[in-house]
Amino acid sequence: MVDLYAALGVDPESSIEEIKSAYRRLAFDNHPDRHVGASPEEIDRLTAKMTEAVQAYEVLSDQSLRAAYDDRRLGRGYRGPEVDRPRDPGPGECMICGWGPARQIQLHQGVGMILRRQKSVMGGMLCKFCAKSMFRMVQNSTMIKGWWGVIAFFANIGYILHNLTVLSDIRSLPAPVPPPAPLNTPLPFPMPPGRPLLARAGVWISILAITAACSLAFGRHHITPGGASQPAISVGMCVDGTAKSIGDPVDCSSTHFAKIVGIVSKQSDCPIDSDGASKETRNGPQPGKFVCLKLMS
Ligand SMILES: [Zn+2]
Repeated sequence: MVDLYAALGVDPESSIEEIKSAYRRLAFDNHPDRHVGASPEEIDRLTAKMTEAVQAYEVLSDQSLRAAYDDRRLGRGYRGPEVDRPRDPGPGECMICGWGPARQIQLHQGVGMILRRQKSVMGGMLCKFCAKSMFRMVQNSTMIKGWWGVIAFFANIGYILHNLTVLSDIRSLPAPVPPPAPLNTPLPFPMPPGRPLLARAGVWISILAITAACSLAFGRHHITPGGASQPAISVGMCVDGTAKSIGDPVDCSSTHFAKIVGIVSKQSDCPIDSDGASKETRNGPQPGKFVCLKLMS
């Protein structure tokens, strides 16, 4: 077999530009006009060399002919021209299944690990079905793993909201259709959408995580229907207030309105030393009871 690369004086790794310029140089050097007065033997030698170069150039300047030649030269089986193999998906075609239309989707996945946290971005050019499947996977994982840490907790709320805006982009995509010929993709058809988010653990773990965070933040305070937090009262506490209603608990060593000496069902049950009772009208732990008060003297 004739070595076509040697005929042009180039390496097998040469680019198409290097092959073109080697051929131009040979054609220029061996042109008969540059060898006026050469002997007939010399002319024959130049012609043979030029014929060889033209044949080599014809094969090596054509991408599929060159690939086939390389396969034979290296003892590999003939693959057939490049165009017979499935092509990679292009713009608007799903990178997972090749179906279209597709668009760029970027989902955020959070993992909280108490002291450090990790965010990864998942996605790519995806069709509606593959994007929806990936959304459910990433959102569920974030809702399970993303809460564990103070900064992670707040970052995670951001990720979840971001992913929800991406979901509305996904919903706006039309249902995908397959390409005319199969493409070079990991799957020949879209990913199955999987179970809906509400049927997965993430949503319920999120509700637990947020509830736990709220009760940590509000401590022993409880929340009234009005939304304001009000401290509980108990016997022995000192409170601010007026003769009509008692106010917030205060330190007994500072100026206060009264001390709570009893919390009873009937006003007549108040201890003898109490100066009066105020009906517990708050949404406290003992609504409807009477708070027996000893006024500060
Ligand atoms: Zn797809």
